[in-house]
Formats: sequence, structure tokens, C-alpha cells
Amino acid sequence: MGAPGAGKGTQAEALANRYDLKSLSTGDLLRAAVDEGTSLGLQIAATLEAGDLVDDDTVIQLIASHLQGGNGNFLFDGFPRTLQQAWALDQLLKEHNLALQAVIFLQVSDSLVVERLLARGRNDDDEAVIRHRLGTYYEKTVPLRDYYEEKNIAVTIDGEGSVEAVGARLYEFVDGLGD
Ligand code: ADP
Repeated sequence: MGAPGAGKGTQAEALANRYDLKSLSTGDLLRAAVDEGTSLGLQIAATLEAGDLVDDDTVIQLIASHLQGGNGNFLFDGFPRTLQQAWALDQLLKEHNLALQAVIFLQVSDSLVVERLLARGRNDDDEAVIRHRLGTYYEKTVPLRDYYEEKNIAVTIDGEGSVEAVGARLYEFVDGLGD
């Protein structure tokens, strides 16, 4: 987890390769739904462009359908983003006999977030939309840290610096996790 622009997508891909994890990015899955051009896709497109969160039911169903039949270890990127999603994930994991090993918060300053996203320039990366997404992150997603801290599986990792430097911090942490 982390603010928009924290580097979740980049680092998730590297972690998935390095540790042979099945990566599920809700952002990617939602953008794929948009590309399909269904009526649900059109609705999602409007939400993404406004920088709002897609509704919990849609996101939970998307994740549930991808857990189905999967085996091995998963890496969730950008999910859960609300407490409702976290509760739904607990339920899903139970049904699949899975458990969370760790919840990583990638920490970056607001000013770096804005700088990185303006440089990225995706169509939801306009400055006003970025500030709105950041506000939503603090309001809806940051409270999940307490939720996972109570379960003793939350860890915060410094997301500033080069991709390689952040990657090295993540690998050090993951290497230290038991199986
Ligand atoms: P970023 O890390 O820059 O926020 P993502 O690709 O993770 O980029 O997400 C892009 C957008 O997709 C978010 O702004 C939000 O609208 C939507 N989204 C992604 N994951 C979720 C989720 N778990 N719940 C609701 N909306 C989501």
C-alpha cells in the first residue's frame, strides 16, 4: 500500500518476479475492464478520471474472481484500499485457506507524490486529480495501517530514493519473512 505515486506498481512487479508471486493489481484490472468497453467499463472510466475510488463491491468481485483457481502466493497491489475491502479480503482469504503474511506501506512525502505523478502523466495524473486522490488515500486507506498493525503484520518501508534503493529495502524485508 501507499499513496498514488508511491511506487507500488513498479515494486510489485519486481517483487512478483523475484519471489514468483501472482500479482493482482486492482488499478491494472480496472483499466483492463475499461479497455473492454462494457457498460461497467464506461462507469469505471469516469470514476478513474475523477480520481475517486471505484465502489467496494466492484473491486471485491474483481479480486474474488482472480483468486478463484489460483494457487501459490499472491501479491496484492492497490488492494485493499478501504476498511470494507479489508474485511472482505479477510473473508475471501478464509474461504481459500490463505493468510496475509505482511502488509507493506510504502512511505513517500506528498510533494514527491505530486512530482512523480506529474512526470508520469497518465490521464488521471492531472494536479487537481492527484491532490484529490491523495486526500482519499489519507481518508480511506491510511486507517488500514492501524487495522493491520493490530494484527501485527503491518510494516512501513521508505519509498523515497531510486527504484533500486527502494527495491533493496523491500527485498531485505521479504527475505526476512518465514515461509
Ligand atoms: P495509483 O497508485 O497511482 O493510485 P493505481 O493503478 O493503483 O494507481 O489506481 C488507479 C485508480 O484505480 C485509483 O485512483 C482508483 O480510482 C482505482 N482503484 C485502484 N485500486 C482500487 C481499490 N482497491 N478500490 C477502489 N478503487 C481502486
